[in-house]
Amino acid sequence: MSVAEQKLAYLTAAGRFDLCSPGECLRLLSAASHVTYSRRAGGCGRMLKVLLHGTCSYDCAYCAVRLHRERLSLSPGELADTFLGLWREGLVGGLFLSSGIARDVDCVMHDIVETGEILRRRGYDGYLHLKVLPGAARADIHGAARVADRISINLEATSSDRLGGIAGVKDYRQDILKRQAWVAEEKPGGHTTQLVVGAADETDAEILSCLADQYRRVRPSRVYFAAFRALPGTPLASHPDTPAWRARRWYQADYLLREYGVTADELRAALDEEGFFPDRDPKVVLADGNAPVNVNLAPRRDLLRVPGIGPKGADRILSLRRVRPFTGLADLARAGIGGKAAGRHLTFGGREAVQTKLVL
Ligand code: SF4
Repeated sequence: MSVAEQKLAYLTAAGRFDLCSPGECLRLLSAASHVTYSRRAGGCGRMLKVLLHGTCSYDCAYCAVRLHRERLSLSPGELADTFLGLWREGLVGGLFLSSGIARDVDCVMHDIVETGEILRRRGYDGYLHLKVLPGAARADIHGAARVADRISINLEATSSDRLGGIAGVKDYRQDILKRQAWVAEEKPGGHTTQLVVGAADETDAEILSCLADQYRRVRPSRVYFAAFRALPGTPLASHPDTPAWRARRWYQADYLLREYGVTADELRAALDEEGFFPDRDPKVVLADGNAPVNVNLAPRRDLLRVPGIGPKGADRILSLRRVRPFTGLADLARAGIGGKAAGRHLTFGGREAVQTKLVL
């Protein structure tokens, strides 16, 4: 293994805390004599996640990179060379590049953008995701947006107060929200963000308000949710871990907001009195609180709120019921919908007002 590959191995391991997909797209399995990568189901392909600088001058209480004192870094040229070697061998198909703030923000952002520019100049036409650092200059955000397929800046917390408790060095409004507005202008539809769930003791009600604001104002194409993990030696070492299911429920809730047209106000009905989701699919929680939906009469909007019915299933129902009414589970199956999830939330009352609740 060359020195650059050894550094890449280290910086890949350090980069696993930054999410670009619900799973870690690519995890370094061995930093021994050769580098081996594994693709995880549901990820975004054979994407290498790596930090340009494995140390940071900031001191965010939840972050592993603040602990790295080795000052290990790759130059833009080194990273581009090593990545292109792996890419040409077919070992990786995309790059997610982030970095600790080893020096000042501008220097590191220049390095990130320069890495992307080198890769494109040298013929790399695969997927490239570049991280925008808090406090980045507009010109660097513009440069990153020009070469990358996707750019992102992490919110990490839901508000200025919440971030202040875990990363006081960052100014939420100036360093993050203002930069995120620039990101949205430079890469409309091509930017994402991440929240560290539970690190700042925020409720799900606060996350919901934050997401509603995000989709109204800057429209990220995705929001990623990292369940907080306490790391030894950090100020949050004794803070309880966030259960993995909480982040999972947030992916489900976020999907309802983005893809199903469910509003934040509707989702609030799934929160408990303290403002948290229970460990149940929010779609099921909402459907349990609503009257069953008449499969033969309901508009698409209502069909989409039935567990087990997605956009394609709803469209199939609308098309099939024009030919003849649904009368039972067999008709649901014909539309590709499993009766187990959807059945108890549907009625088959025909086209008239009288509805019969399905008995399973
Ligand atoms: S700025 Fe980023 S890399 Fe640096 S300590 Fe904070 S979260 Fe970690």
